[in-house]
Amino acid sequence: MITHGTAVAETDWERAVELVRGAGSVALACHVSPDGDALGSMLGFGLALRQAGTEVVASFGDQGFAVPRLLRFLPGQDLLVEPAAYPAEPPLMITFDASTMDRLGLLVPNAGRAGDLVVLDHHVSNTGFGSLHLIDPSAASTTVIVEELIHRLGLTIDRDVAVCLYTGLVTDTGSFRYSATTPAAHAMAGRLIAAGLRPDEIARELWDRSPFAYLRVLGAALDRVTLEPAEAAGHGIVWTYVTRADRAAHALPYDEVEGVIDVVRRVDEADVAVVLKEADDGVWNVSTRSKGAIDVGRACTTLGGGGHPSAAGFSSHVSPEETMAALRPHLRPPHPPSA
Ligand code: AMP
Ligand code: MN
Ligand code: MN
Repeated sequence: MITHGTAVAETDWERAVELVRGAGSVALACHVSPDGDALGSMLGFGLALRQAGTEVVASFGDQGFAVPRLLRFLPGQDLLVEPAAYPAEPPLMITFDASTMDRLGLLVPNAGRAGDLVVLDHHVSNTGFGSLHLIDPSAASTTVIVEELIHRLGLTIDRDVAVCLYTGLVTDTGSFRYSATTPAAHAMAGRLIAAGLRPDEIARELWDRSPFAYLRVLGAALDRVTLEPAEAAGHGIVWTYVTRADRAAHALPYDEVEGVIDVVRRVDEADVAVVLKEADDGVWNVSTRSKGAIDVGRACTTLGGGGHPSAAGFSSHVSPEETMAALRPHLRPPHPPSA
């Protein structure tokens, strides 16, 4: 039994079911640089649909299209096509875990020309860029919404689909550590594990393996970590960065440095953690995390990115120091401590 909330209107669920049932083919897309929730929700839904005989293509709009190494264990990769091979004018397109149209990257024009554009998401910052929205900010992950849609369509959640949905759930709850860890999230995990997946195997893929080079690059990042104490900033900020040169020195691909933020954010003296990661094209992707007092989602949205109150990001074209200078003023607590 699904215990999903009421954020999505009943009429919208019905319309979504109608659209999917009426479609001979469906084009799926998730946000660029996909994480476990983006790819897991898209591939899980795609696999369930394909079993029902629907023609499915799935993609994400990255330049230099490649599935991050961490997520290559996900079933359903054969649904993926490069953005160049994606339908130019899909009659029905569905997006996953993307809070704005921009997050579709190279697939923005396709979305713009889609007959119907259905948006599945759980970001409170979602701009409502589609023609139909299944958005629930109380959902722990986009895969929560996918599970419900699959049930409403009368489709089956087999082991492969369950692996995809579970991956989104555990990534976005940090393995049931973050605030989105509700009874409903655990109940969903229970249903998915009952479908036959191995939580230990998925955990190892996601969090407990890295090439040796990762330790060297992590070492370089930790060597230059900075703690701006609460007295100076109004609250503590811990931050560091990973350059292209760091990674090149050890032949480490960009997608391997995703986990640096999880080491840095544990620091007791800081409320906010920031890791700036230089991609191969020289753009800096900034990851921010908050323990609660500061809304990093709002800060990052102001700087052209987005995310959740406690986990968010944005892109920058200037140096780490300059980026931090731009970010710092947005990281003030709502009620600054009096002098
Ligand atoms: P990350 O730090 O990459 O793990 O991202 C944390 C959260 O921020 C996720 O919900 C992302 O979807 C969101 N996010 C990260 N970068 C961006 C961006 N450039 N634009 C919008 N949202 C972002
Ligand atoms: Mn995501
Ligand atoms: Mn998500």
